[in-house]
Amino acid sequence: MSETEGGCWRERARLQTQTIKSCPFCGEEERIYPYISETYPSRHFVGCVNCRARGPETCDSKEAIRMWNYAPRNYDSNCE
Ligand SMILES: [Zn+2]
Repeated sequence: MSETEGGCWRERARLQTQTIKSCPFCGEEERIYPYISETYPSRHFVGCVNCRARGPETCDSKEAIRMWNYAPRNYDSNCE
């Protein structure tokens, strides 16, 4: 069995305690999960199930979540 098999699920379990903010694109709050790149198993990113937005890919899962959380969220603004 390869190391990457089922990796996403293990990551989710391990990172349950790390808070991930809502989606900066659609505002989804529940279905935001950390993933491991299918192409590059050493790359991590945060993705939104609702709008399929993806955060920056990083070499560390915690960093990926931190980058996602850094994204600006302007729900109160209707400006384009
Ligand atoms: Zn979204």
